[in-house]
Amino acid sequence: MSIATITIDAWVCDCCGHQWRIVSRENVPKRCSRCKSRTWNRSAQPKVPFSLNAETISRIADGLRHRAARRREAAEERVLARLRR
Ligand SMILES: [Zn+2]
Repeated sequence: MSIATITIDAWVCDCCGHQWRIVSRENVPKRCSRCKSRTWNRSAQPKVPFSLNAETISRIADGLRHRAARRREAAEERVLARLRR
């Protein structure tokens, strides 16, 4: 005999913790099927749209700067390659 673990996706109520099977991801339930709360899916609508700390902001800025520099280098390479021809 062998045992398999099956994972299924489920909605989780933010109010009562109830979990129930997702039938369709497009049709997000209006209410929790146990406690009937309409705010069961509160986490889907964040209260604060953005809360980034200074470290995260600088990390993102560094990433963007790095990417911009790479793009600039690639553009310069293309121009140089064209001039060399
Ligand atoms: Zn609930």
